[in-house]
Amino acid sequence: MEPAQKALMLNTGIAAQAMTLDSASIRSEFPTLNREVRDGVPLVYLDSAATSQKPRQVLEKVERFYRDCNANVHRGIHTLAEEATTQYEGARERIADFINAGAAREVIFTGNATQALNLVAQSWGRANLYKGDRIVLTEMEHHSNLVPWQMLATEKDLRIDIIPVRDDGELDQSEFDKLLRNKPKAVCITHVSNVLGTVNPLARIAEKARSVGALTVVDGAQSAPHLPVDVQALGADFFAFSGHKMCGPTGVGVLWGRAELLQLMPPFLGGGDMIKRVYLRDFEPNEIPYKFEAGTPPIGEAIGLGAAVDFLTDVGMDAIWQHEQWLIKYALERLEEFPGVTVYGPAGGVRGGVAAFTLEGVHPHDIAQVLDTSGVAVRAGHHCAMPLHDRFNLVATARASFYLYNTRDEVDELIRGLYKVKDLFG
Ligand code: PMP
Repeated sequence: MEPAQKALMLNTGIAAQAMTLDSASIRSEFPTLNREVRDGVPLVYLDSAATSQKPRQVLEKVERFYRDCNANVHRGIHTLAEEATTQYEGARERIADFINAGAAREVIFTGNATQALNLVAQSWGRANLYKGDRIVLTEMEHHSNLVPWQMLATEKDLRIDIIPVRDDGELDQSEFDKLLRNKPKAVCITHVSNVLGTVNPLARIAEKARSVGALTVVDGAQSAPHLPVDVQALGADFFAFSGHKMCGPTGVGVLWGRAELLQLMPPFLGGGDMIKRVYLRDFEPNEIPYKFEAGTPPIGEAIGLGAAVDFLTDVGMDAIWQHEQWLIKYALERLEEFPGVTVYGPAGGVRGGVAAFTLEGVHPHDIAQVLDTSGVAVRAGHHCAMPLHDRFNLVATARASFYLYNTRDEVDELIRGLYKVKDLFG
């Protein structure tokens, strides 16, 4: 059993009885949550799977950086440059601790999860995959973990195999076992689905992949913000995530990779900082992680992400995960009893805090628009998972997604808003 699943099992009893986080004090840390979206209508923010709100601690850290010690990193010996470098590298260390990386140099700052996954495809993939090689993807991937591999497959003439999603929203493990017989070189998989909320049994998947010599590339965009992640325990080879979904700024993401792999990989982008020595016709690449951080990195953003990780650690990732389980359980109960609503994804058990749903006879965009009049922010569309929507014969869904600052009262607001939708659309 996955560690997060084990924690959940132990805690379902407690979570069912009591809220695990002090919502009022957490909410007071997030200025945006206290605003109104229309005259007198308070915001009910249920779109954290797209991006999370930011706590004061992060906003202040970023502001302080730009105000007091803004300078470029690694290239100066003046005081501001040293301070900026110390803060930037300090953030790297704290993020490494947050995911239990073997070393801080295994943490590469990118622009977002998408860039991190492209880095793996373009650097590791280009150097290590050859015509006819197979890679395994899943039917529930976000476009960020599909398109980079499709681009590479076209360029290198690779074969793509797909693990199908079952009707209950779980991956078909027996199909995965069959695909492994073809000896794929990589298994590229999301940890938590941004549509179904499915939590994939990654440790088992990575172990099976390893047994046939395949690497596991994990899209952790929906797991790192929500549950305790230990990249070493998961047995993954690469793990990508975005800062903006975990209380950090936009413009910064992380690729974690095992040092021995990163060291052998060629640089992805060329330019300043990623080199040790440059000649007119050649260059020597820098050590990791700098080899993969060409140009001025997202300095203020990475420092902000460091503050976000401190904030999440102080609240406690176990408590956040438990709180979300408590919320999603309630949201699923309320949505499923609503006439005409269909919710997609696992019906119970371990599940991320996202509920993608349809309401009979109403387009998801109309649902989102009417909910907005009640201050309820949900997303409508394909959520960058078109093949998954095709799988369920859907063009779009409405998606409510939860985070540490959401409450059961907000779930009730969602349901009240849905009655308004139903009244309007008959
Ligand atoms: N993967 C998943 C599962 C996601 O939910 C998202 C964001 N919607 C991404 C990847 C891409 O994240 P970003 O746009 O920050 O690169």
